[in-house]
Amino acid sequence: RTRPNDLSSFWMPFTANRQFKQAPRMLVAAKDMHYFTDDGRKVLDGTSGLWCVNAGHGRPKITEAIQRQAAEMDYAPPFQMGHPLAFELANRLVDIAPQGMDHVFFTNSGSESVETALKIALAYHRVRGEGSRVRLIGRERGYHGVNFGGTAVGGIVANRKMFGTLVAGVDHLPHTHLPHLNAFSRGEPEHGGEDLANALERLAALHDASTIAAVIVEPVAGSTGVLIPPKGYLKRLREICDKHGILLIFDEVITGYGRLGAPFAAEVFGVTPDIMTTAKGVTNGAVPMGAVFVKKEIYDAFMTGPEHMIEFFHGYTYSAHPLACAAGIATLETYREEGLLTRASGEIGQYWADMLHSLRDLPHVIDIRNIGLVGAIELEPIEGQPTKRAFSAFLKAFENNLTIRTTGDIIAMSPPLIIEKEHIDQIGDTLRSILKSID
Ligand code: PMP
Repeated sequence: RTRPNDLSSFWMPFTANRQFKQAPRMLVAAKDMHYFTDDGRKVLDGTSGLWCVNAGHGRPKITEAIQRQAAEMDYAPPFQMGHPLAFELANRLVDIAPQGMDHVFFTNSGSESVETALKIALAYHRVRGEGSRVRLIGRERGYHGVNFGGTAVGGIVANRKMFGTLVAGVDHLPHTHLPHLNAFSRGEPEHGGEDLANALERLAALHDASTIAAVIVEPVAGSTGVLIPPKGYLKRLREICDKHGILLIFDEVITGYGRLGAPFAAEVFGVTPDIMTTAKGVTNGAVPMGAVFVKKEIYDAFMTGPEHMIEFFHGYTYSAHPLACAAGIATLETYREEGLLTRASGEIGQYWADMLHSLRDLPHVIDIRNIGLVGAIELEPIEGQPTKRAFSAFLKAFENNLTIRTTGDIIAMSPPLIIEKEHIDQIGDTLRSILKSID
């Protein structure tokens, strides 16, 4: 069998012909911290799949719950009918959510969670007689999935430009006030945050605050390179939103479920949003699911009666799918039993941080960032060939039995929260030899 190895894109067209130029490396099994490849190798998962397998792969409690549920009831409609696991999971989610976020809308992905959140924001204002609040504000280098709303509020120009304006009335906050690319995190994390967040005041003045429905940000931008906001940034955004009646949405699709050392980033930064999108870790990646959390006051204001439920026609055939609910409950149990939702803030998180920062003086490294069990190594771009270095690091890492993610010239990592010191040592050793070997 031909094994293509010039993977140059992270999205795969799943054609029948595996020899297609961009066919992926083949993963055929997974257990705990590892993947197994079709050529018989055991590969350390440095990225929790795609930031989702927070408790590690193939956890028996989760797989057994899915199997049991598949045998018992494969499907139940989420409209006019329901099933008890949906309510049980919603309750359990609310138990770990920031105070007051006690309503949950189930979706099937991060992208759907984002669309759901944006629609809730618009519905909320409309029901309250503020139908002119339709503008949505995202942020430069934000990633909010690939559906229409999420692509529009997303801050990656390359992803947007093929689709015109997508959604009217969208604007973006800057992610830095400094000239170099990643100053958002590389600048001065201890201050500067308020100043940067004040860009929202400028947009509010520019557009008239009473036309703005919501601001959506990832508390820490994940897929664009682990951009950790400077201190005070999120708090100041909260203040400005409150002042102008704008809803604040945190996209916690990556940061949720223990990644940063607390159940949600909202807790880490001490800022509670009005709406919070999650997915990925809610089912440990085992079954597709997303969950959107909504503050009680917001929910009560727009879900006022049957006529509004009809106007806010929103939900999916597979919302609260029984298999996903069973997986979600077993996942939350696993997180609880093993203390995984806070593990990244303890000794293992420190060990992870120390390993990452020990790579600081290796060739090409211009920045190292970490928070919880997330890390990024930014490499100096090659003039005219941005992404080349990080991409060759990815290829070499895979050859050396480690998965990493790359975004531009940044290597990003987010290992399962069950990681042990020996795995961190292995990641450190592998990265050290790779970084020494790339041009
Ligand atoms: N929001 C954020 C912050 C994400 O990181 C992602 C996925 N990486 C999404 C939304 C979209 O999630 P999905 O791929 O499950 O649609």
